[in-house]
Amino acid sequence: MLHKFGALSPAHIKVEAYASAFGLTIVDGQLDGARARLTRGKKPQIRVSERTPSEAARRFSIAHELGHHVLDHFGDKPHAVCTDTTPKVKRHPNKRDFETEAQVFAANTLMPRSMVAKRCETATPSLAIAQSIVADFKTSLPASTIRLVELSMECCAAVLTANGLISWAVHSPSFTARIPRGKAIDPRTVAADFHSTGTCSDKPRTLAASAWIDDDDVVDIVEHSMPVEEGGVISLVWLPKNGNR
Ligand SMILES: [Zn+2]
Repeated sequence: MLHKFGALSPAHIKVEAYASAFGLTIVDGQLDGARARLTRGKKPQIRVSERTPSEAARRFSIAHELGHHVLDHFGDKPHAVCTDTTPKVKRHPNKRDFETEAQVFAANTLMPRSMVAKRCETATPSLAIAQSIVADFKTSLPASTIRLVELSMECCAAVLTANGLISWAVHSPSFTARIPRGKAIDPRTVAADFHSTGTCSDKPRTLAASAWIDDDDVVDIVEHSMPVEEGGVISLVWLPKNGNR
């Protein structure tokens, strides 16, 4: 996509123009049960729900549906419905997962490795890096935090919590412990502070690793949490270099 559209900087990443170049029309309107939908046929469309919570989420939805189109996930089927746009923890290892492929396509299209890797690889993890991606690439804070975790050299994970539970977690390759989806938020976490009081520290805090993960070899974990415009709290957690067995 970078080469096709000659994108050299974040300002060149115009996902609606990309979709248009592939012959897709974007229609905002009422959509039940999905944030966006791809309709094939003579006049292919990306339909985007008018309830999409932010322009950043809208851009991601368009990039996701464009991914289904470009990767030809649905062949001759007239339309596709995305029922689950959150990252999946488990999938069958031998089966292609079109939703995950579309998510990866969207993340790479909106936040190309060549433009974001440097800031993610070199620095100590911090949501400030994710916020800089939000500012430059017009992406959401959760999507930007996931991208940071994917490209970071550190042992880290991005976690979204809402309604008292862990909605999802994405782990860096070196983060071998798992933060399970659906688990109750531990009251010792910074995220729990926000969920119970409506406010939380905007600074990273070191806490007992057992608040997030079940691993006897890890003593401390650092957590940096912030509320998300679309709802819930995003937490970036990482293992400090000198705090563990
Ligand atoms: Zn999809």
